[in-house]
Amino acid sequence: MRLIFLGAPGSGKGTQAAMLAQSYGIPQISTGDILRKAVKEGTALGEKAKAIMAKGELVPDEIILELIRQRLAEADCKKGYILDGFPRTLQQAEGLERFLGAKSIQAAILIDVQPETLISRITSRRVCVDCGETYNLFTDPPPADSRCRRCGGQVIQRQDDSEATVRNRLQVYEEKTAPLIDFYRQQRVLFRVDGEASVDQVYQQIVSVVQQMAGEIR
Ligand code: AMP
Repeated sequence: MRLIFLGAPGSGKGTQAAMLAQSYGIPQISTGDILRKAVKEGTALGEKAKAIMAKGELVPDEIILELIRQRLAEADCKKGYILDGFPRTLQQAEGLERFLGAKSIQAAILIDVQPETLISRITSRRVCVDCGETYNLFTDPPPADSRCRRCGGQVIQRQDDSEATVRNRLQVYEEKTAPLIDFYRQQRVLFRVDGEASVDQVYQQIVSVVQQMAGEIR
């Protein structure tokens, strides 16, 4: 099973991809998480990505494609994977096809959310610096001492979740990533789900897509 989750920042891709990955026993591959880890560890990749991410811009395609090429070669990807936050440009989607061959992606699931909802969700998002667990100030607030309920790490606001950066990230999404919707529609693998619904309702819609897809593959 090879899936792509498409959607603007704040659409819930990461949350949904994590839930699906866990129940299907395949890895969730988030380029954002890989980059954040590199920044935290101060690697050469992290040094290059840091300022770009802080502004809400995209890390260059060649860097991302190399990172994905290496990640997909790891043993845990044999059974399949969920790509979360990749591809983000047409060049990345084409690069992915070069690695995998055409028609290797079975579904690109678009989580559709209105821009006003995205801004309010992202600016109220908080994350654990250690394990990446996410919280929302209104719907799922972090503990009063700001320690993560899962690992005890510190819960913070991501630097790129500030309102000014969020507006830029949404603009970058419209310009660079939204064209992928048509790209995957033309390949007849695009599925749209209503991302305004609750986390569980969105998840149910995604599971139906996956079941439908699995039926077709069989
Ligand atoms: P995310 O956690 O997916 O919202 O990603 C956070 C930031 O990491 C983005 O705003 C970009 O700066 C960078 N990033 C993540 N994935 C990609 C990608 N596929 N291509 C380019 N930049 C990316």
